[in-house]
Amino acid sequence: MKLGIDLGGTHIAIGLVNSRGKLLNKIEKDWTSEDKKNMNSAIKNNIITLVEKILKQSNINLDNITKIGIGYTCMLIKDNEKDEYIHYFEKKFKKEVSMRNDAKCAALCEKKYGNIKEYKNVIFLTIGTGIGGAYFYNNKLVKPTLKEGFEVGHMVICKNGKKCRCGKEGCFEEYASIRTLKDKIKKEFNIKENINSKYILRMSEDEQYKEKLGNIIDEYTDNLKIGIINLIEIFEPDVICIGGSFSYYKDLILSPLVNKINKQLDRQIKVILAENKNDAGIIGAVL
Ligand SMILES: [Zn+2]
Repeated sequence: MKLGIDLGGTHIAIGLVNSRGKLLNKIEKDWTSEDKKNMNSAIKNNIITLVEKILKQSNINLDNITKIGIGYTCMLIKDNEKDEYIHYFEKKFKKEVSMRNDAKCAALCEKKYGNIKEYKNVIFLTIGTGIGGAYFYNNKLVKPTLKEGFEVGHMVICKNGKKCRCGKEGCFEEYASIRTLKDKIKKEFNIKENINSKYILRMSEDEQYKEKLGNIIDEYTDNLKIGIINLIEIFEPDVICIGGSFSYYKDLILSPLVNKINKQLDRQIKVILAENKNDAGIIGAVL
């Protein structure tokens, strides 16, 4: 039995994963405003608390855990900071601990257990709070030497565009992340509360919102199309697979996006969703 942990931009998720890659139990928690004041200690304290909690809930002793895998977003942890965390948690839990960029975790899960098993050359995108990526060439995850690589969310798609948290302007994720889409919708309809996929899907069926929301989604899929076509032209993948919270918008966003992409290419490209949705990050963290 292994423990997979997904450190995302808005929340932390921990899951118990068996040897066949099945998620047996899962606990999720949003980062609080208190957590955000000191993420380093929040990450450490939350992981310790949630490991204890899930083991207790599942009636399992830490001795039965063979490995702890942690997937992290670069919003929380820089690639060169992971060794400090690995050292800390190995000392704390006396277990093998591994850490990998969250998009690569999700991609490895989908490659082993999910929708991209059969494809050799794959571009995998996680679209949620930001945009992460991974690339398989001839079935192998491409891994550069310096950092984890394939940070497609920070390729520039707009000159003098919106300022990104990475310091550049006009990054892909500032135009095509689900966070950006939600912010636009909240602004346009003057919504103060947090909104999720269910909320947006309900709005899309409501006559009073339909037209305005349709325009926002049209602009959003245009931006997404630019980034994805750039990647297709460079890497010539057999398929594009998308995970993250984007997975919850199949009919509303994926279908129009695929139409737009294929209209601009001289071949038809498959764009599919990750089978394990948001859980792929937890399962892939232990691979
Ligand atoms: Zn950026």
